Amino acid sequence: MGVKVCPRCGRTEKEVPFIGFFCRDCYLELNPPIKESEIKLKVCPTCGRIFVGYWTEFDLTKVAKWIKDHIKISNDVEKPILTITLGKEDEKTIEYRGILTGVIQGTPIEYRFSGTVRKVYEQCPYCARRAGGYYEAVIQLRGERWKELYKEVIDRISKEKDPKAFVTKEVPRREGIDIFVGSKKVAEKVAKKLKQLGAKVKFSYEQVTEKDGKPVTREFISIRL
Ligand SMILES: [Zn+2]
Ligand SMILES: [Zn+2]
Repeated sequence: MGVKVCPRCGRTEKEVPFIGFFCRDCYLELNPPIKESEIKLKVCPTCGRIFVGYWTEFDLTKVAKWIKDHIKISNDVEKPILTITLGKEDEKTIEYRGILTGVIQGTPIEYRFSGTVRKVYEQCPYCARRAGGYYEAVIQLRGERWKELYKEVIDRISKEKDPKAFVTKEVPRREGIDIFVGSKKVAEKVAKKLKQLGAKVKFSYEQVTEKDGKPVTREFISIRL
């Protein structure tokens, strides 16, 4: 048996490992071990959240996982390990580089490639709700010092991670302001904090409709200082 010579590049198996009739490099060029399809990523133009099977805050690790989930690895590769590193990003795309390691027909491989994710802008359900005027609670700031509470309320809501932590609208009243909040939970949390600051807090509810036989209520939180 003679020494194998790669029919494509002329190197021998003394110089480089082989896979079948070809040297490893030529084999991988002829049979790319991954199938790249165009990967799309939905991005909300309003809040920047991304869709990775569910809507979530922009997160590099989640984007990398989304890419990984969309790259098809050839069945030839045994023990595949895929690593994705994100690169340049602009309004339309996110570049990435990948390294695939594994074994093909007993020969270890390391295959490097790069690709692009295309951003598709689509409003997330939270922003759609917000735009539609959705709210679950109304914080009613009253009293002589209501203005002191106002900044506190807006600050605290904006710091919450809850996707419904938004203010739908604000309506000035004769002796204060009504703040319409997307999330009951967030509104209650803010109210608790204001109570600690010395404000008087009162809750009341109004049934707006029924869903599956259960009443859907809106919460009114009167906060006085
Ligand atoms: Zn070759
Ligand atoms: Zn959004």
